[in-house]
Amino acid sequence: MASYKLLLLPGDGIGPEVMAEAEKLIAWFNAQGIARFEIERGLVGGSAYDAHGKAISESDMALAMASDAVLFGAVGGPKWDKVPYEVRPEAGLLRLRKDLGLFANLRPAICYPALADASSLKREVVEGLDILIVRELTGGVYFGEPKTITDLGNGQKRGIDTQVYETYEIERISRVAFDLALTRRNKVSSAEKRNVMKTGVLWNEVVTRIHAAEYPKVTLEHVLADNCAMQLVRWPKQYDVIVTDNLFGDVLSDVAAMLTGSLGMLPSASLGAPDARSGRRKSLYEPVHGSAPDIAGTGAANPIAMIASFGMALRYSLGLGDWATKLDQAIAAVLARGIRTRDIAGDQPPNATTTQMGAAILDEFKKLA
Ligand code: NAD
Repeated sequence: MASYKLLLLPGDGIGPEVMAEAEKLIAWFNAQGIARFEIERGLVGGSAYDAHGKAISESDMALAMASDAVLFGAVGGPKWDKVPYEVRPEAGLLRLRKDLGLFANLRPAICYPALADASSLKREVVEGLDILIVRELTGGVYFGEPKTITDLGNGQKRGIDTQVYETYEIERISRVAFDLALTRRNKVSSAEKRNVMKTGVLWNEVVTRIHAAEYPKVTLEHVLADNCAMQLVRWPKQYDVIVTDNLFGDVLSDVAAMLTGSLGMLPSASLGAPDARSGRRKSLYEPVHGSAPDIAGTGAANPIAMIASFGMALRYSLGLGDWATKLDQAIAAVLARGIRTRDIAGDQPPNATTTQMGAAILDEFKKLA
């Protein structure tokens, strides 16, 4: 039986509440003998600051480096608004991304039929939607130098950010996108702005070369990033995998997210380079939402984003893709039965708390298993 090391970092606010529901699934896998998950637990964000004066301790960083996958809840909250900048809760997540070398951010946008009416778009546009945005996470304009604000001395200032990409960064993110497309519907849409940006010209050139040399079976199309944003709200089902840079990915993944309704539904994965010997990638899985201090402790948090993030770990890090599919089916079945936490209840009163939603998904999952 395969054995995997998982590090659980629940974090702050609703993080521990939603993580507890994912842990019940993990315990079930272990009890059934389907896989052997060795669990370690650590602190991140405000809870780590309270315990260690840092957003993540060195010993928890060492556990993260040694794990097959990190499951991350959420960090932050008003309690830590005034802590020093370098130890603020988000610094824990940034440190994890940096030290684990997580350069590929995967954000699926899936619209469950039972929630199609919760979207701001028409049912026929979003029903059955299943697309994946692959965003480059460690390069581009958020990190390029120079990055300055200069006083020009005449009452004016000049702000500069620098968009930089090198060949290897585009090669590795495009390989992630093509590999994922091979497990889905075999189509990659690469979004950039080659009409006005040199990085866009290079991006287009490198993606085209990697496609021709290594992935002839995948269909590749190029789309200008602004047109991609428009197409996402016009007819999103034309896409399968969208690969794009850090800045455009930030915007396009939020547009795609809102096609599907609540923040409480959205999982994500961040992947690093494959290890030369084992082929395994460093990885971190987390819901897109934050720590939701406004509902923490009330039982109103929707655990689906966290549970679906664990599902992504099954698929992308733990070699259990068939079980990930069953977990997606269990979530769809629970939604089809009309079980709703507050965020997805629409005009109706909610009929499930965090633990009730988690229990309902586990029950459906057991039936499918
Ligand atoms: P948020 O995502 O925490 O909450 C936004 C809104 O969505 C809130 O009304 C919240 O109640 C609701 N919501 C979020 N997740 C939900 C869930 N699972 N179920 C039901 N409702 C849910 O964003 P925010 O309010 O802007 O930020 C709160 C804190 O979280 C801040 O400290 C922020 O810095 C932090 N944050 C952390 C992360 C992260 O850990 N990756 C991401 C975003 C924000």
